[in-house]
Amino acid sequence: MLKRTNNCGELRKKDAGKEIILNGWIDRIRDLGGIKFILLRDRYGKTQVFFDPNENNELYERAVTLGIEYTVAIKGIVKERPAEAVNSDMETGEIEILAKDLEIFSKSETPPIYVNREEDIAETTRLKYRYLDLRKERLQRNLFIRHKAMQATRKYLSENNFMEIETPYLTKSTPEGARDFVVPSRIKSGNFYALPQSPQIFKQLLMVSGFDRYFQIARCFRDEDFRADRQPEFTQIDIEASFVEMEDILNFGEGVVKAVFQETIGYIPETPFKRMTYAYATDTYGSDKPDTRYGMELKDITEYFKDNCTDFIAEVIKNGGCIKGFEVKNKASLFSRKKFDEYTDLAKSFGAAGLMWIAKDKDKAEPRSSIKKIAQKEINEIINDGIIEEDSIFFALSGERKVINKILGQLRNTVIREETEKAKGFDISWITDFPMFAWDEEENRLVAEHHPFTMPKIDEFEKYADDPLRINGQCYDLVINGYEMASGSVRIHRQDIQKKVFEMIGLSEEQINSKFGFLIEAFKYGPPPHAGMALGMDRLVAVITGEDSIKEVIAFPKTATGSDPMSDAPSVLDEKQLKELKIDVKN
Ligand code: ASP
Repeated sequence: MLKRTNNCGELRKKDAGKEIILNGWIDRIRDLGGIKFILLRDRYGKTQVFFDPNENNELYERAVTLGIEYTVAIKGIVKERPAEAVNSDMETGEIEILAKDLEIFSKSETPPIYVNREEDIAETTRLKYRYLDLRKERLQRNLFIRHKAMQATRKYLSENNFMEIETPYLTKSTPEGARDFVVPSRIKSGNFYALPQSPQIFKQLLMVSGFDRYFQIARCFRDEDFRADRQPEFTQIDIEASFVEMEDILNFGEGVVKAVFQETIGYIPETPFKRMTYAYATDTYGSDKPDTRYGMELKDITEYFKDNCTDFIAEVIKNGGCIKGFEVKNKASLFSRKKFDEYTDLAKSFGAAGLMWIAKDKDKAEPRSSIKKIAQKEINEIINDGIIEEDSIFFALSGERKVINKILGQLRNTVIREETEKAKGFDISWITDFPMFAWDEEENRLVAEHHPFTMPKIDEFEKYADDPLRINGQCYDLVINGYEMASGSVRIHRQDIQKKVFEMIGLSEEQINSKFGFLIEAFKYGPPPHAGMALGMDRLVAVITGEDSIKEVIAFPKTATGSDPMSDAPSVLDEKQLKELKIDVKN
């Protein structure tokens, strides 16, 4: 075998004259003046090779039989390219290889995906031939960055005394609250394992065992109806530590994120990361995962309307509601009446009764507005106070504060997505003080916002015992560029508090025992105070590589319906397997 002496990305002018061997795939073939040029590719780069019939006709004749994606070895001499042939777009563009020998390792049929072309290909084709798709430079780079991110994580955490410990994949339901993927047990027929939605319970047990700093780059499984860009299995950087408080975990979280950014793309985020409470984030951006790079903070303009007698406005104000909105700068000229109508329909689809809009057109004295007839005076005052600048728009809603915050947040996101140029850089913030509970309308009961092992803020837990929706938890999310990148909490290590929380979310003794009895049992034996978090590896790498979809940073992702067009999973089991498992499939 002609084994490589160099890779396809490393030869330079200084190597001219050397005899080398390269191994790789044929990326391109060109004929020029009777000479055959091929571009040889491996994961390190591309190098140009040429076969000259005047040098060796027999070798040239063999080169004529080559096709793209053939895997070959080429032995040759490194030649400095003549000045006019230097390709400054290629790292190896100063040199080329005069071929002296050729070994064809394997041939390739015409590939269903052209590796050397960036073109729109149906997702199912990409995933069916993922091994070819992965040959592309972009995906090679993405997976390399992912590898570096994992290395940086391991290095940083190991240096800080964290131990990497694996936890089971065949286990029981965990408390994240999504649907479980289950695996039937053959030996205990009729019984099922659940694949972990996270290592949550096991990592807490490891704290009981005294492994006071744990981490794992763990696969998690959640059987959700696939919303945009979710994967049924995904990877978390899972962290837990004992004898710590929230501040310590935020510190470690910042350490990991910083190390990952630095090691992958050399970017050093400023620490400490900015922080805002859940209440502030939702009131200012209408979201608990705001991208603050776009501004468009929500403003309360109720004051201007306090003397307005229009029924719906007076009604809202009387009921303690408000009028809030946000400014979209420099866009008035792009908004026709039709476009405002579309945004109004959109607001309605988000649950609003209507949408108020004001446009201050450039060089026009008269603003356009949906509330011109009922609020001329108010519009003028708002504009005079500089709340809407020249060529800008203001979108506003009236109603109950929490409700309109949420809808405004959705509208703001739409404006960001549809009307705004993609912001550069990274916007990193911690969101803290999430509510401990939420009200589940369907089940008509309180549910845990994070998970039921989250420690409430102790003073609020006592003070608002009768009004639990006012209790905040000691939990936190990390948000980067508008994505929830991590979440975690201080855990309950006191039995009395845990019992109370379970009671509040309406779990019976029996349910508690069958769900997490073993954790409660373990907590009888001296659990340390502990806290932790989990960072989404897929999303983190996607943000770092500038990809919108996490599929671009996962080697073998699934389609939106959770299937894999390459292996054809999920698929039916054969009769024998079903019989062994004592499973009858009903159609
Ligand atoms: N297990 C939690 C989750 O997956 C994270 C944590 O609290 O550590 O969301």
